[in-house]
Amino acid sequence: MQNFNFTPLKMPPDVASLRRAVRSFLDTELAELKAVDKAQSWAGYSADFSRKLASKGWVGMTWPKALGGSEASALHRYVVIEELLAAGAPVAAHWIADRQSGTLLVRYASEAVQQRFVPAMARGEMFFCIGMSEPNSGSDLASIKTKAHRVDGGWVINGSKLWTTNAHRSQIMIALVRTTAQGQARHAGLSQFIIDLSSEGVKINSIADHLGARHFGEIFFDNVFVSDDMLLGAEGDGWNQVNSELALERSGPERYLSSYRLFAELLESLDGECDDATTQTIGEISADLWTLRQMSMSIAGQLAEGSEPSLEASMVKDLGACFEQNLPHSVQAGIGASIPSDRDSDLSETLSYLLMASPAFSLRGGTREILRGIIARGLGLK
Ligand SMILES: Cc1cc2nc3c(=O)[nH]c(=O)nc-3n(C[C@H](O)[C@H](O)[C@H](O)COP(=O)(O)OP(=O)(O)OC[C@H]3O[C@@H](n4cnc5c(N)ncnc54)[C@H](O)[C@@H]3O)c2cc1C
Repeated sequence: MQNFNFTPLKMPPDVASLRRAVRSFLDTELAELKAVDKAQSWAGYSADFSRKLASKGWVGMTWPKALGGSEASALHRYVVIEELLAAGAPVAAHWIADRQSGTLLVRYASEAVQQRFVPAMARGEMFFCIGMSEPNSGSDLASIKTKAHRVDGGWVINGSKLWTTNAHRSQIMIALVRTTAQGQARHAGLSQFIIDLSSEGVKINSIADHLGARHFGEIFFDNVFVSDDMLLGAEGDGWNQVNSELALERSGPERYLSSYRLFAELLESLDGECDDATTQTIGEISADLWTLRQMSMSIAGQLAEGSEPSLEASMVKDLGACFEQNLPHSVQAGIGASIPSDRDSDLSETLSYLLMASPAFSLRGGTREILRGIIARGLGLK
């Protein structure tokens, strides 16, 4: 049985000045952003904002300087991410490149390929999306059907991907595909490719989510040629690579801060007045937030040391999703009757939006049931 490692971690003292600088930048940049747009949190999209953030050196912070990064520690990046999410900054354009794709390229791509993509990602000019899920293959990712077969000088890809966040607004996808037919070892024969989405044979349709927003894409690959150097890492090693990517995808503060704006709006609306019901609601939310933050920071520390805390990341994502889904319901149950119901109230608009949006929080990045399976396996219960 594996033990969980959630060693308490203290932020280095010099992060305080970084935090102040990010806050001051965000105060200016987000001054005109409406509360309900801030509530979209990391789903909010603005390529312009991403470029401005990058010009401050806050995209790709941990990447090598030679590739446009600043070789900052994972904890310095963590502080920037916390501030962005707490403020409700529209980070979606560069989010996936910054969180996982850039790091994957730094780990697995050749120097020439790194030079081609990573500096543009760090400038907030090149956006990536994640091509894992397919029609009929979400939780059971090893069952994907998209295939690549070898040809002279490269590979030809056929198949499709589904639920790809911002596919229609990204230049590049890192896709998991089959390079050899599925045999008894289900996780063998998978590989990752860097695919330029403007290539001949790629078709992308955007799909509306349950709120009508069009951030999802479905992508069809019809004999799409990719050159040899676009194979990321080793052929057949895609499953291991994807798992190390998922540790990055599942562990950050975005996995418990998606509803944070509601808490912030609640605090801002109080104006110094606080009855018992409100005090209790705030106390309960704060206690959960504090605990999740300690757990998530501990993972950032482990990632900074080069470990791969996949089990701990699954735990934080599952607990975090429960917290961010419960938060709007706690606010509604605790103090709903006293929230002004007029549509223009920032608090009531933010609450309505999050009550409707939050069911998806436990699906993206791996569903609750799948994470609990991973945790059970880690505990030796499965
Ligand atoms: C907002 C959002 C953004 C997303 N962005 C991306 C993206 O950028 N790229 C990408 O590749 N994918 C993305 N996805 C897709 C996401 O990863 C899948 O929706 C998710 O993995 C579930 O797969 P599925 O939808 O096929 O559901 P299914 O796998 O069909 O699952 C349906 C239900 O059955 C349950 N279930 C399935 N298998 C088991 C099991 N073995 N034991 C118990 N219960 C089980 C699941 O937990 C779920 O409740 C996104 C999804 C959302 C909601």
